[in-house]
This record gives sequence, C-alpha cells and structure tokens, in this order.
Amino acid sequence: MLPSRSDSQQRSLENPDKQTMRVDSTKRTDKLIEVPRKKLNMRLYTESEQRFQDYVNSKIVTISIIALVGAYAILIFIIVALEELLDETEFNNVSSILSWIELGILIVFILEIFVGLYAWGIKKYYKDKWLILDTLIILLSLFFVIFELADQKTSNVIKVIQAVFRFLRIFLLIRKAQTFRRLATISTISTPAEKIVRFLAELKEVLEDENMKLDIDYCIDKIGNNQLYQMGKLDEDNAEAMAWLNQSQQGRAEVKRIVTNEQQQQQQKKVIANFQKLNIPKRLLEILYKQHDDLYIDPFECDKLSGGEGLVNLMLFFFENYNLFDVFLIKPKVVRGYFEEVMKGYLDNPYHNKVHAQDVAQTCNFLLSKCKFIEIGQLDEQDIACVLIAGAIHDYGHPGLTNAFLINSRNDLALTYNDQSVLEMYHPSQCFKIAWGNQKVNIFENLQFHKYRRIRESIILMVLSTDMAHHASELAITNSRIAAPDFEPNGKDKQRLMDLIVHSSDVSNPTKSFEIYKNWTEKVLTEFWLQGDKERDLGLPISYLCNRYTTNTAEAQVGFIDYVVKPTFACVLGFLPAYEPFFQNLDKNKAKWQELIEYYKQQLASIQPK
Ligand SMILES: [Zn+2]
Repeated sequence: MLPSRSDSQQRSLENPDKQTMRVDSTKRTDKLIEVPRKKLNMRLYTESEQRFQDYVNSKIVTISIIALVGAYAILIFIIVALEELLDETEFNNVSSILSWIELGILIVFILEIFVGLYAWGIKKYYKDKWLILDTLIILLSLFFVIFELADQKTSNVIKVIQAVFRFLRIFLLIRKAQTFRRLATISTISTPAEKIVRFLAELKEVLEDENMKLDIDYCIDKIGNNQLYQMGKLDEDNAEAMAWLNQSQQGRAEVKRIVTNEQQQQQQKKVIANFQKLNIPKRLLEILYKQHDDLYIDPFECDKLSGGEGLVNLMLFFFENYNLFDVFLIKPKVVRGYFEEVMKGYLDNPYHNKVHAQDVAQTCNFLLSKCKFIEIGQLDEQDIACVLIAGAIHDYGHPGLTNAFLINSRNDLALTYNDQSVLEMYHPSQCFKIAWGNQKVNIFENLQFHKYRRIRESIILMVLSTDMAHHASELAITNSRIAAPDFEPNGKDKQRLMDLIVHSSDVSNPTKSFEIYKNWTEKVLTEFWLQGDKERDLGLPISYLCNRYTTNTAEAQVGFIDYVVKPTFACVLGFLPAYEPFFQNLDKNKAKWQELIEYYKQQLASIQPK
C-alpha cells in the first residue's frame, strides 16, 4: 500500500533546481519568507523517483490494484469455501490451481511494495507503521503459498498456521479497502483551499523544525477557517505580541493551536523582531500594535513619539502589517527613504501638513480594517497599498492655499493644470516624480509594468477624489450605485468605494474625539484665515470660511457636519455597516459646537477690525 501524495505536493517537488519554497509565517505573519529547502530537512526526489510516484498515484494503477484486491478477496472466499465443501482429495486437486493464482496476485503486491520503496524511500514509505505489517503478511503468505505448491503433504501444524494466515490475509484486504476509501475521498476534493490544506498537512509531516510546523498550523488554521483576508482586526498574534511587549501576561488572547509556552514565546519574538527591524521608535510601535486600526489614535502624539516622523513610521508599520514589502518586492529602507522624501515635501502649514497626511492614512486604515472594507471589497494587498499610499501622499506639497486662491491669483500650478483639480493633480504627480527621480527611494521600481499601471491609476483616482469641487456630484453617484441592484463593492464599484474611503478620511475630523477634532478645527481655520488675509491684501474676493472677522468657528463646524461630513459618512455606512457605532460621534460633536456658538460670537465681536 502506498502513501498517497497530493498533486500539489507532487508539483512542489517537481523541480529540484528550485531550492526555495515559500512558507507562511505568523502575522508578520502574513509575510512570506524564503526558506531554503535544505533547512526544511526535506528529501529531494530524483526525476525517476518522481516518475514512479506519478505512476503509482495514477488513476489506472490505483484502479488496477483495487480490482486485484477484489479478486484476491473472492479467491480467499473460494479457498475457504472449497475447503469446507470438498473432501481432502478433491480439494488437493483444485488447490494447486488456486495457489498458482494466489501466487500471481501476491507477486503483484510484492512488486507494488518494491515500487513504493524505490519511489519514496524506506523512511517515508514506512512512516505508516501498518505498512510494515502489510508487508510482513504478504511475505509470509508468499512463503506459505510457495510451500504449498512445493510440498503437497503438509503437516497438521503447518495447516493450522496456514489457516491463521488466511485470516490475516483478510485483515490485509480490509486495510487495502480502507486505502481505497481514502483514495476515493481524495478524488472528491474539489476546492483549491482543500488541496492546499492537504499539501500543508503533508508538508508538516516531513518537516523537522518545530517552528516551521507551527507556521504550517497557522496557515492551515487561517485557510481552513476562511480567515485569509481578515487583516482588519488586531489578530491574536498581534495581541500576544503586545502582551509580550508590555511584559505582561494579562489579557492574552485565547490561542486555538495547542503549543507550548516556549513555542509561543518564540513565535511572539519572531513577530516582534520583524517589526523591530523597521526601527520604529519603541513607544510608537507599542501604540501602533494596540491602536493601528483605531479611530481615536492621537496623530499628534504619534508624530511626537517618533521625533516628527510619524508619517514615515506609520507607513513602515502598514507595509509590514500588510505584507506590502513582498507586494512591491522592496526592502524597508527603500520604503523609509520614499516616505521620508514625501514627508519632507509637506510644508509646515497649520493644517495641510505631514501630521494631517499621517492622520488621513491612519483613518483610511481604520475604515479598511476595523470597518471591514478589506473583506467587503475583497481588497487584495495591492488595493490596500493603494489606499494607504493615497492617504499618505494626498496633500503632498500643499501650499496652504485652496484651488480657488491658486486659480484667482493666476498661480503657476493653476496654469500648469488648467484650473482643473489643481492641487489634487499636483500632489500625486510630485509623488510619482519623487520615486522615479531617485532609484534609492523608488518603491515602484520592481513592480511589473501592468501592476504599476494599475497601482498608479488607482492612487491618482483616489487623490483626485479629495477635490471638494466634485464632492456633491460624486457622492450622489456613489449613493445611487450603493442602492443599485447590481452594486458590486468587490467588483466594478470597488475603485469608486476606495475613492470614497480616502475622501471621507480626508474630512473625518468631526467623527473623532471632540478634543482632537477641536485641535484640527483651530488649525484648519488658522490656515484659511491666513489665506483670507492674503486675499484681502491682493484685493481678491475673500473665500468662504477665510474671513477671520466673520467666520464663527462653531457655526462653521455645525454646517460642515450637516452638509459635508454627515452625508459622506452616511454613504460610507451604506456599504460598511461596521461603521455604525462611530456614526453617532457626528451628532455628539455637533451638539458640543452648538453650545459654543454664543462663545465664538463674543470672540468675534471682540476682534472686529477698526
Ligand atoms: Zn487632506
């Protein structure tokens, strides 16, 4: 009986030159790592061994062996029946013919064993200990059949032993029948996931490294439980990692796999080590572990903890967390270099600065993971990368002035982009130039051209969607798409929803804690009022919200929530039901501003120009 091997395992062993194979690790886990085959302690099969394995596993051989088992069963039944029915002389007359047939069948079984031993080697072949017993029974049966044919005058003792062996041969038949059932089950396996799980289970058997076995258990668990795309919530491995970081065993997430404490610790150390390699400041790393998908993470605190490099560190965290280094086929230092350049391009504006960019990327991640857009839109790693990169670059080089100002003041950017989404055209354009202008920081360099085109197009569309000039019309279209019977959040509507993820994140301040929201409000109005001052000096019409002498901060925010933010997030809620608990923040914050309207009126009265 031969150890059955799945097609996938067969294929993986087909090419001995490919000395590496990809094995999933834990959360970083979802990161693929190259592991030399030798390290896996796997035997490499020669071409001829593989040919024999293919031959033995082929349908025709399997069916032939099963047919032979059936014939052998009938033969044994006939021998036992004739022995009972006929007298000794009559039985001796026919038994030699039956013995010759039995000899033929046993020789085929012996051949089957030899082929198996050659194809898989003794160690692998006899990994199933029952096969040793099978072999023994076949060999002894062979011995008795030969003995019977050579000497008809068997003693009574031999006859008893023979009878016992007939019984044991029935056991052999049962074993063969079991294998047949197993083969039949295998042949009904239909999904690739099942095949992969089977392959992983078999791979685990040949591995000697305990850590690798744990990694395979992790893969089987995730595939088997259909959790491959559950990147959103902080998963159990991250929770464990956090516990390890805090040197605390409290609140440890329940671990489904049965592993020793030592193995768990090794796992945790591996996850931590992967993130630590990124040189993210320790305190920030702790916060990101705990809150990377949290709406209430404090962007100002994150930036402060990383010495003003919050944007760079956040993006490195995301690249590791979502396995994007492998998607882009780049090293962390290239990613760090790229986002350092992006960060430098953000001017020191009161509002449109690097912390706002970091905040938008962070909020995008909240919608992707905690609000489950990754699952609903069935986003692949490329999609995730596009959304997060778009969030990070969406205001690159923002001059702290609106498109209207740039157009009215005949600014060079407005001339370049023909007054059309001036800044939203400028931001991504510059960010792609950064990459292609310096090979050392080009995160796109190793992408295949068609992938690069797809990523570039998607990022540009998302940044363009942040132009408030198109807010109302685009929102109306998106709402109508969500209501349409052929709405496909994971298909033809995916990009439109990704656009909305970035646009809504860009206007998400009113959805956050009032303290952080108020901080952002003061910053954005400071920036607007500086523009208003410029407009006044240039004799240009003063833009909406830009007159420091007439804009009531609280009233402006109530209007902003009612007319912009609430409709935007109502639309988000239309396809992300998990956003529901956060939606009420808008009303709570609006009520707080309403209480402050009178206060700001008095403030305005005290600063009126003479
Ligand atoms: Zn923005």
